[in-house]
Amino acid sequence: MNKKIRNVAIIAHVDHGKTTLVDKILHQCKLFGEHEKPGELIMDSNDLERERGITILSKNVSVSYNDIKINIIDTPGHSDFGGEVERVLNMADGVLLLVDAFEGTMPQTRFVLQKALEIGLKPVVVINKVDKPNCRPLEVQEEVFELMFNLDGSDEQLDFPTFYGSAKEGWMSDDVTKRTNDITSLLDGIIKYIPEPKVEEGPTQMRITSLDYSSYVGRIAIGKVFRGTLKANQQVAVIRKDKSVVKQVIKELFVYDGFQRKNVDEAESGELVAIVGLENFEIGETIAHIDHPDQLDPIAVDEPTMSMLFTIN
Ligand code: GDP
Repeated sequence: MNKKIRNVAIIAHVDHGKTTLVDKILHQCKLFGEHEKPGELIMDSNDLERERGITILSKNVSVSYNDIKINIIDTPGHSDFGGEVERVLNMADGVLLLVDAFEGTMPQTRFVLQKALEIGLKPVVVINKVDKPNCRPLEVQEEVFELMFNLDGSDEQLDFPTFYGSAKEGWMSDDVTKRTNDITSLLDGIIKYIPEPKVEEGPTQMRITSLDYSSYVGRIAIGKVFRGTLKANQQVAVIRKDKSVVKQVIKELFVYDGFQRKNVDEAESGELVAIVGLENFEIGETIAHIDHPDQLDPIAVDEPTMSMLFTIN
């Protein structure tokens, strides 16, 4: 187990508050971080707004909370382009299911939840917008339970923890009758209920889950390290869809850090990475140790995908 990491995907119907919640998580963890490292400036709202723009481009973000790194994996909000939901969920070890306390479960909630349950991910439910007049948090909680039951959730999945709050006002509570002042209780919940990524010993193995493009560095392969350790400057085998093996070199390796990507020398099993330098690859293919080109189970891909429409630099 990699105790230092949590990989969590946030799933929600559009407008239920995903962006707002991610902003609050980033802000609160940043503030905590500042207490540990005096001297740095706390971001003002302009900085936040600017960085929020970048969030939307880079899709995954990461925060550090009580010495644990939480990678937050974004899932497509409206439609499922080429099976993207399923692919990105494959990087997660659990999901935050965010539901509007007034609107309740909606078609997209059902669609993405079904995928998450099928993969076997454990859900943590967040009933958001409890500040809204006429909201009905307990009824919505019951709706979520029924939906999960109807979608054949396992006993463990049905035994989900629930948090209530207002992303907009910046608070979350594990008790619907008690308001809090911040989102600490949800952050503690993520650490407690989202499983640690499994760490597999053995030769390096990673699945390319999505793809980015930068006009400076070209194609960027994104995914989760499933086994071993991935290193910058390492020669690796890319196992193509037709099972042919292409030897290539990882020029640069990045992990997620806040809204940005941080250049690192190596990344261990369980971590999410972005790789620069590979030319011949497609989504769904495996990167493996040069001497042990073991293929991971391929995952469904229909191109083009949403991430191909974005450019980062
Ligand atoms: P997303 O589409 O899931 O990313 O949703 P957003 O975070 O963009 O939020 C959609 C709308 O709901 C925005 O107008 C937010 O200000 C609003 N919103 C988000 N969280 C809350 C909340 O806790 N309470 C209320 N009243 N509005 C919220």
